[in-house]
Amino acid sequence: MGRVYNFSAGPSTLPEEVLKTAASELLDYNGTGTSVMEMSHRSSAFMDIITQAEALIRQLMDIPENYKVLFLQGGASTQFAAVPLNLMGKSKKADYINTGMWSKKAIAEAKRYGQINEVATSQDKNFTYIPSLTKDMFDPDAAYVHITTNNTIFGTKYTQLPDTGNVPIVADMSSNILSEKMDVTRFGIIYAGAQKNIGPAGVTVVIIRDDLLDQKLDFTPTMLTYKTHAESGSMYNTPPCYPIYMAKLVFQWLKEAGGVEAIQKINDEKAAILYGFLDDSKLFKATVEPQHRSLMNVPFVLPTDALNATFIKSATEAGLINLKGHRSVGGMRASIYNAMPVEGVKALVEFMRKFEQENS
Ligand SMILES: *Cc1c(COP(=O)(O)O)cnc(C)c1O
Repeated sequence: MGRVYNFSAGPSTLPEEVLKTAASELLDYNGTGTSVMEMSHRSSAFMDIITQAEALIRQLMDIPENYKVLFLQGGASTQFAAVPLNLMGKSKKADYINTGMWSKKAIAEAKRYGQINEVATSQDKNFTYIPSLTKDMFDPDAAYVHITTNNTIFGTKYTQLPDTGNVPIVADMSSNILSEKMDVTRFGIIYAGAQKNIGPAGVTVVIIRDDLLDQKLDFTPTMLTYKTHAESGSMYNTPPCYPIYMAKLVFQWLKEAGGVEAIQKINDEKAAILYGFLDDSKLFKATVEPQHRSLMNVPFVLPTDALNATFIKSATEAGLINLKGHRSVGGMRASIYNAMPVEGVKALVEFMRKFEQENS
């Protein structure tokens, strides 16, 4: 069987070129006679890999000198605890915006460590929009304001960042990091699990402004302390070597594709093709309000659950896989991350067009 178009929300499709490079280097990485999985993380070969990975993401995101880049384990979900554990040493208050399931989980975890104020939520309309936020809504004494820049399950994204004054914004960027231009200086911390836009599951990228490395709670475990990892170049213990190597290959691929600006154009094009079809369709319907639509995760529904099920089944047979929506939204969700080519989205829309003709 050949490669299919994989619309999985995560772990998600990777660039074919990257997988081919990884395959060609699997048994013998760069003349070392070993796989990257088998080498010491202190070897010069691996030190080169992690150094290059960091240099590449710094270049791609234009990360200033006064930010550290960490390659950690535990997924974005571990960051739900790490953020309050590292930032609540000064003020035990934080503001959160609740825009969906991942925000909710972040809030629930943070509540274990301090006073969490849910500043705004879009729960009233099943998270189909991003609430409007004004500066007066935020507590100037909060340690940070937490947002989820792209809501993987509900398919919304922030089109503009809130003005939080001097309070640093902490962003869960798991599902839209590197998909569009972001001004890193607007954030105190950016974190992202790798398995959407960076590489395989197993590594979590944390980008943190230097001044935020010194306000942890007393009891924060060593392994959850950002400073531990910042001071040791993410080498305090054995890092997730192979996922870091894969991330490096993905960063290289993205650089060669023209960087974030170039991929953003392609992402805009892919989203326009899919949303354009959905808005014209008499059968399919997008669930998110147009001004807050994600470029990465596109939920949509058919009029009945029976049709949804038929569509998902026949799409799978046609090589368009993992289109089933999250249970909280129902219907379908097409995740069209950086590695999904325009051709994949065109194939999906063609299939939907045919399905509409046959079922109306
Ligand atoms: C996938 C995802 C997570 C969870 O990531 P894990 O690495 O599985 O912990 C958190 N937040 C967002 C926005 C996600 O898309």
